[in-house]
This record gives sequence, structure tokens and C-alpha cells, in this order.
Amino acid sequence: MTNLIYSPEQLNAHSLDVIIVGSGPAGVAVAERLYQEHPSATIGILERGSVLTLNHISNIFPNELRRPFIDRFKIKPWEGGFQEGGMLLPALGGRGIAAGAHLRRFDKDDFKLWANGEWPDSVIKDFPDYYNDAELARRVSVSAIRGPAQTWALGLLNSFHAYPPPIGVDLWSEGGFEIGRGYDSSVSRLWKLLIQDTLEHENEKRRIYVATNAYVTKIEHKDSQVTGLRFLNTLLKPDNDPVLLQSKIVVLAASTIESARLFLHSQLAPENPIAGCYLAEHIECRAKIMVSPITREVQSQGVSVVIPPQKTDKIDPMDRFQIHLRGQPDRDGNLSIDIGGFAAMDPEPANCVTLSANRDIYGIPKAYIAISSSKSDEQRVKRMCLRIREIKDILGGKFITERFPFEEVQPTYTEEDKAIQKMDWGRSYHEAGTLRMGVNPKTSVTNEFGQVHGISNLFVADASLFPCVGIANPMLTITSLAYRVADHIKGEI
Ligand SMILES: Cc1cc2nc3c(=O)[nH]c(=O)nc-3n(C[C@H](O)[C@H](O)[C@H](O)COP(=O)(O)OP(=O)(O)OC[C@H]3O[C@@H](n4cnc5c(N)ncnc54)[C@H](O)[C@@H]3O)c2cc1C
Repeated sequence: MTNLIYSPEQLNAHSLDVIIVGSGPAGVAVAERLYQEHPSATIGILERGSVLTLNHISNIFPNELRRPFIDRFKIKPWEGGFQEGGMLLPALGGRGIAAGAHLRRFDKDDFKLWANGEWPDSVIKDFPDYYNDAELARRVSVSAIRGPAQTWALGLLNSFHAYPPPIGVDLWSEGGFEIGRGYDSSVSRLWKLLIQDTLEHENEKRRIYVATNAYVTKIEHKDSQVTGLRFLNTLLKPDNDPVLLQSKIVVLAASTIESARLFLHSQLAPENPIAGCYLAEHIECRAKIMVSPITREVQSQGVSVVIPPQKTDKIDPMDRFQIHLRGQPDRDGNLSIDIGGFAAMDPEPANCVTLSANRDIYGIPKAYIAISSSKSDEQRVKRMCLRIREIKDILGGKFITERFPFEEVQPTYTEEDKAIQKMDWGRSYHEAGTLRMGVNPKTSVTNEFGQVHGISNLFVADASLFPCVGIANPMLTITSLAYRVADHIKGEI
């Protein structure tokens, strides 16, 4: 029998060049690149979660089902706090399955703007080519939303240099965001690779092996080498013994929080004292406005607009935020617009992931997160909230106070708090940092190719590599960086 997906134990029967931990956008990008660029490399992916639904194979995830689907998960993958492990969607494809499709490049300024958060020069130099590859692979194009409402919004917000966002949705739709196709395409690209591999190779000569329900609990290492990975089969009782799996190279792509947690639990930190530090995410503020548009035509269309940082002669760190507008007509003929502001965060060593005293059901310490905003973060957020108000006024809208179901309105909230919500930590889903890359081993955990300092066969490929979070949605940069890490691994195999 030919299996597309393996059980964790079955992987042990195969000799692997590379094992990737995690099958989100980062893990899949490494696998995809290695598969295409290295003609003989054998690749294993260990994914803690299961295969979810057939929908993801075709990458069909209707927008109206996204929220109820997410709510089904008891742990509320991205609604809980960091402490509850709330940043994960353990499933083949990771959070990319439900990610919202905005695939935006970092602005040039963001790579260098932050003291303590400068990206290595070689990465900046190589990035245009990697961004091109990632955009082609994900069919990034300008927002699918067109029509009179979009023209109306872009026209009114012209002075803010508003533009339609680059997204990975390839269908044109008249109906606003009810687009049944798009979102992150990495999981469907993985299925394509698996099918291609099955067709091209006999079972024992396959090049890519994916095991689901495989929870990696430890990286075994001796001297300056990783010797293997310990993993548990999550379909068995929690007290089953971890199995050892070996490969020449190990790649961490389990997400910013989980890669750091695994790194710390594996006691790799003594050699890398800043492992876990410099966690940052986008500080997110949300508001909803209702506009009564002028014409019937405008009423029947959606809006999708991004407002970038405003261009001035000198780059102002206080202006490093972006604002997204997503509008849909409602039944009463109004335009209801969700506004999301994402502000950059200063890279601070004190914002970090450590191991909690609490353990998960497998006995592994949970991640504990310490994070707070700096004074300049707060100023930046204040300015972003002012801009959200300006946008509301320019569009002639009025705020609708609609809080998310899981958030309670605190008695201390002012009217302004109620109109513009500052989301809890972890709610932007754009976390980064923790195993940062750099050229100086004292201030970074990996070198500029994602290779862990002092451990030549251990790589990191997800957003934990980011020296700073910038303002762009991270997935395009994650993919590009993962391609670059894969190219370096190719030379190491
Ligand atoms: C609702 C939503 C909307 C979003 N919209 C956008 C957007 O528009 N644009 C954008 O750029 N980004 C967006 N994002 C963010 C984007 O989804 C993440 O940045 C991206 O998924 C991170 O990729 P990753 O591969 O590093 O991690 P993940 O996607 O989290 O994948 C990590 C994988 O590793 C697995 N794993 C973890 N630990 C282990 C372990 N120990 N053993 C085995 N497997 C493990 C997990 O189960 C998971 O499958 C959005 C996120 C959400 C939740």
C-alpha cells in the first residue's frame, strides 16, 4: 500500500537527510525548496497535529466558516493567551490553513530601522530574489476586490497612500470577502509534492515522508551535533515512551513560540543564552465602522485597502504601523468596515519565552511568555489609534462597538476603549523573534543562514529567526527566509 501520510513510527524505517519539525508555512517552504532544488535529498516532516479536513487539499476554506471552525477548538488557538499555548493550530499546514492571505513584503526600512533588531546584510541583499520566488509560488497579486466601493475608498484615502493589499487569493470576486479560495497555499503545495513523489518513486525510495500526530519533545545532542529527535505519537496514551528518530540535519519550523520552547527544553540554551529572548509581535488594535454610502452601486461591493506608514523625508519609528480595512455591505444597505491596525514593536531582550513550571499532558513544560510594551510602543499605538479615527472621519463612518465574544468589557473602559480595542498579547498571530539570526553569536542564536551557532546540523526556519517584527504580515517573509535556509541546507547535506 502506498501511504501519502505516515504514522510517526513508520518514519524510522527510512533513512532521512533532513527532518523538519512542523508543517506550517515555514516547514512546508523548506520541504518544497529542498525537494525541488536537491535532486536526491530525503525529507521527513513531523507534525504534531492531524490532517484536518479534505477542504485544505483544494485550499477551499470559505470565509464564513473560518471563524466558527476556529471556535471549535477548545484551546482557541489564536484567541487564548500565550500562556495557554494559544498560538498554535496543531494540524497539517499549521496556522497557514486559516491565515488571512495578506502576503506583504517587509519595507526596506524595517530591516534596518531598529537598534537591536538589524537584519544581516546578506539577507537583505538576497531577499528581493527570494521574495520574487515566494510571490510566484503563492500567486500573490493585488487584492481580488474591485468595483465602485473599492474605488470610492481608495479615492477618499488617497492622501494616506492607500492601496489594495497584495494577497494570495487568485479568484476575482464581486462579493467582498466571501471568497472560497485562497488563503495560505502551503498545505496544498505539500499535498502536491506528496502526490508527485508517490507517482515518481517506489514506496521505499520516496523522497518526502510526512508523519502526523508526531509531537517532537526533545532534540538530542552531543558535543556540537544533534544526534536525533524524540517524539511521541499523540494517538497513543500520553505516557508512551518517546521514540528516537535520526537524520543528518534537523530543522525547527514549529513557530516562534514552539521552536523556542523545544530549543529551551532540549537544553540547548546554555550555549545560546539569548535563546527565547526578543519576542515581538504586532500590537493590534481593532475597530468597526458603519458607513452609509452614497450610491446603491457602492453598497453592493466589498472594500479591501491597506494604509502603509506615511512617507516623510526621515523614517519615523513612531509611524511604523499599517492599517487594514475590510468592508462588506450589510443587509440594510450599509457598508460595514473592519479596521485592523498592526504596530511594530521594539525588539527588547526582556520580552521572552521561557519554560513554565506547568506541564502539558505529556509532562513537557509549557511555554511561559513575558511580554510588555515599551514607552515608544505605546506612543506608536496611540498614533495608530488617532489615524484610525481620522480614517473613520474621512470615510464618513461611525464607530460600532462590537466586542469579540471572548472578551469582556471591563468597568474601567472609556468610550474610546470601547470603540478601538487593543487586542490581548498574542492576538495578532504575527509573533517573531526568540531564536534570532545574526552575525554575532553573542547577540544571535543562529548565523545568517538559520544555522544554530555551535551546532552545525541544527537549523531554524520560522519567524523565530526575525531580528525584528517590522510591520508587514509575516508569512511572505517566513516563506522567503525558509527558502533561503533550505538553499543553505542543500549545501550542507
Ligand atoms: C486567523 C489568522 C490569520 C492570519 N492572517 C495572516 C495574513 O493575512 N498574512 C500573514 O502573513 N500572516 C497571517 N497569519 C499569521 C500566519 O498564519 C503565521 O505567521 C504562520 O502560520 C506562521 O508559520 P509557521 O510555519 O512558523 O508556524 P505555524 O503556522 O504555527 O506552524 C507550526 C506547525 O508546527 C507544529 N508543531 C509545533 N510544535 C511542534 C512539535 N513540538 N512537534 C511537531 N510539530 C509541532 C504545529 O502543530 C504547526 O502545525 C494569520 C494567522 C491567523 C491565525
